[in-house]
Amino acid sequence: MSERLDDLCPRPHFMKPQPTAPMTPPIYPAAVYRCADPVQAGELLTGELEGYIYRRDGQPNADMLAERLATLHGAERAVITSSGMGALALAALSQLAAGDHIVVSHQLYGRSSHLFTGELSRLGVTATQVDACDADAVRRALETPSKLVVVESLTNPLLRVADLAALAEAAHTAGARLLVDNTFAGPGVCRPLDFGADLVVESLTKIINGHGDVLLGLLCGREALWQRVPIAATTWGTSPSPFDCWLAMRGLGTMALRVDRAVANAAAAARLFAQRNEVATVAYPGLELHPDYEIAQRQFGRRGGAMICFTLKGGLPAATAFIRAGRIPFSPSLGELSTTLSHPASTSHYAVEPSLREQLGIFDGTIRLSVGIESAEFVCAAIEESLAAIV
Ligand SMILES: *Cc1c(COP(=O)(O)O)cnc(C)c1O
Repeated sequence: MSERLDDLCPRPHFMKPQPTAPMTPPIYPAAVYRCADPVQAGELLTGELEGYIYRRDGQPNADMLAERLATLHGAERAVITSSGMGALALAALSQLAAGDHIVVSHQLYGRSSHLFTGELSRLGVTATQVDACDADAVRRALETPSKLVVVESLTNPLLRVADLAALAEAAHTAGARLLVDNTFAGPGVCRPLDFGADLVVESLTKIINGHGDVLLGLLCGREALWQRVPIAATTWGTSPSPFDCWLAMRGLGTMALRVDRAVANAAAAARLFAQRNEVATVAYPGLELHPDYEIAQRQFGRRGGAMICFTLKGGLPAATAFIRAGRIPFSPSLGELSTTLSHPASTSHYAVEPSLREQLGIFDGTIRLSVGIESAEFVCAAIEESLAAIV
């Protein structure tokens, strides 16, 4: 009896060969795989033999997801990471070394900005921050020999759209590469590699998983830049959870439908904001009055995306009343099933000095919506009720 209880080694192939295949992929939680002999183990570790041996080096659920996303982006290579920040860190750690200079958009996601201008400076990488919507400013910054240009295809919260083709050309002319964080647009709206980008990062936590229940990232791009990616990923430990990969794969299955619906809802909501008295300005790349409308039409396949940013005339009291109305959850992320809102001045941009914040166009009355997949009537009614709460 005790011998049977002590035998804890799993039977590796307990399942008999099946004549059918499951329609849903299995989850592979194994941290380690069982090798036949030292020769095989050696070959697996050097990569001579393709196969799994240790989860930090690679696992099936991550690879299934990476393959699908590579196809979606038209990328030669793709890797899944533990978070969007993990993907940005992996891009930096695989492409940069001490002494390198990079050119970074001044409108990056807060943590990204800190990664590229703060954390990396500790490792000897210097950065120049520029307005990515000003291609001439980017060219001037590139007069300092540079390795990487880092921009977002759609910025938070003002939803500016940089001209990726112009930036790719400027970067390549200067011998640099273009890295695009595509999180706010997502692959249903923008494929940066089509416009000459070399590397793309996405937080799968947002639109791609779409259900607010995983944390994952994607790095994908050209084969020529991939040499150091696998070794950097496994050495710095950016690997993802197979459970999260499995959920994201499921989320990805409905992404096209979700994006269609959310984009249509956002277009309706943007028109509503543009007509309302309480609203001073509305930023939506699908509206003709948006400063980057033409670029967005070209780069986003005539879609405006699912994010809207607006500023209320009544400042902080108006924003507070709109939020406290409670019709739209104040949840400072994006890409959920339901419409959510964020208040940049108190969340994503709280650390930015108020005068600089206002220079960027972020006021106390500024609210950013991530439009969900409810009916358009529901979304518009929720907005109208929230506006009605402003006195
Ligand atoms: C959320 C986000 C990230 C970071 O992604 P995580 O999955 O939260 O680590 C990076 N860039 C942008 C634009 C984001 O919105």
